[in-house]
Amino acid sequence: MAFELPKLPYPFAALEPSIDARTMEIHHGKHHQGYVTNLNNAISGTDAGNLSIEDICKQISRYPVAVRNNGGGHFNHSLFWTVMKPGGSPLSGTLKEAITSAFGTVDEFRNKFAAAGASRFGSGWAWLVVGQDKKLAVGSTPNQDNPLMDIAEIKGIPVLGLDVWEHAYYLNYQNRRPDYISAWWNVVHWDEVARRFAAAMK
Ligand code: MN
Repeated sequence: MAFELPKLPYPFAALEPSIDARTMEIHHGKHHQGYVTNLNNAISGTDAGNLSIEDICKQISRYPVAVRNNGGGHFNHSLFWTVMKPGGSPLSGTLKEAITSAFGTVDEFRNKFAAAGASRFGSGWAWLVVGQDKKLAVGSTPNQDNPLMDIAEIKGIPVLGLDVWEHAYYLNYQNRRPDYISAWWNVVHWDEVARRFAAAMK
């Protein structure tokens, strides 16, 4: 079974003005498609074709670096599209309580997450994860690594991820990564993050 590019759950222009249509079109149709194509090439002849992308990530140290880069790229972007929604959705309920408990206030969480994304040198991702201790934590990973990977510095189940590669924002924001991160909060789909959080806590 070959991996496939998931359909974007909204039109390219739906996240404007936070993320412009042209960026979304290239990001989904060229960058994510590239990771899927290269992942399928990289796993041909290995046992990874029978595994889920999550299971491949969990034992990524067994595989060549092309699987790490492109498998991470496929998992990360598949999550990224789903945790955004035109206009966003409100943070509430159990997840809001858990964030407040872990970080003090929602604002403190947002500051910590934004700082993780802004300070990641070069390309990478900011994450909110449920750790093995079932507690929420914030961190970042380089390149297309993610917290599922056995080689990652921050480990856990990612429930929210933010792409801070230049390809995610450069057309509209140029070098202003912090402005992209600020605008991105307006399209975070907290209902989907809460669904992922509930599943991770089971
Ligand atoms: Mn990307």
